[in-house]
Amino acid sequence: MPSSILIVDDSPKIREQIIRTLRNAGLFDEYREAADGLDGVKELLERRADLVICDLEMPRMDGFKFISLLASRAELSDIPTILLTGREDREMKIRGLEQGAVDYVTKPFDEGELIARVKVQQKIKKLQDDLKRTNELLLEISNTDPLTGLYNRRYLMENLDKEFQRVRRKESELALIIIDLDHFKSINDTYGHQQGDEVLVEVALQMQKHLRSYDIAARYGGEEFVAVLPESSKEEAMHVAERLRASVEALGFSGDSGQHIVVTISLGVAVFPSPKVDCIDSLIRQADEALYRAKRNGRNQVESLC
Ligand code: GH3
Ligand code: MG
Ligand code: MG
Ligand code: MG
Repeated sequence: MPSSILIVDDSPKIREQIIRTLRNAGLFDEYREAADGLDGVKELLERRADLVICDLEMPRMDGFKFISLLASRAELSDIPTILLTGREDREMKIRGLEQGAVDYVTKPFDEGELIARVKVQQKIKKLQDDLKRTNELLLEISNTDPLTGLYNRRYLMENLDKEFQRVRRKESELALIIIDLDHFKSINDTYGHQQGDEVLVEVALQMQKHLRSYDIAARYGGEEFVAVLPESSKEEAMHVAERLRASVEALGFSGDSGQHIVVTISLGVAVFPSPKVDCIDSLIRQADEALYRAKRNGRNQVESLC
């Protein structure tokens, strides 16, 4: 995105001087202007800027009102503003900084000083943007299972809680499917741990393929997965589980010496509300018990006790 600065001042001459100075220093891609605070806010609501330089005394809306309006709008509150003040306006400078301006420049301004102060703000903005990106990345990593790229158990439990509360409020329904690979230990023992990992990745892909964008697909433990399906009845969840079961069975892997490996999964389905499910713990327990029944009955099948 091109970098841009907005100059808010009622004097066309000052706007022109500032823009010329900054343009000569090559600091931004775009130089935008507004003649008072109100037009300044309108301009920023249309499109944000990386930095604002704002005069204090202007008709309709002065610099103080302008800064407090920016501070009150979530989408604009992080745009840094440098105030333009008279050289002797000590009180004004203090009040402006207290209200949220990041710095001030006195009029008539010194070109070198203006450039230096703008550069400092650009540097701070870049550091903050980097930090924000790093935090987003860290959050993603802390929510993700590294092998399969699905959500991890931590994210699942946090969001299952939110979904559960939402569904309860709306008097709607929610389904949970626990998926466990059948005889997975023998896949590892026979074909190696790496082949086992590939199977886990493929099963995760099938989950993503068969679930809707607002369902949650997570790796629950070693070779166990969980799918949360908000707004789904038991019938719908059983249908999804069955399609998933069939698609994993149909996958087929080839071992190192070309052997055909068939992998199957067993699935337990539980829904809220249902007679034995009134909280997250009982929802998971019911799905787990259904899974055990599927295992006992011969594996490669879907079960529900709800
Ligand atoms: P069942 O049909 O009863 O579920 O039998 P199972 O062999 O799948 O169950 P068991 O609990 O005995 O074994 C689970 C195996 O999953 C043992 C463990 O080595 C394997 N496993 C767990 N996490 C991973 C992993 O990240 N990668 C690989 N390759 N294997 C894993
Ligand atoms: Mg003015
Ligand atoms: Mg298991
Ligand atoms: Mg297993």
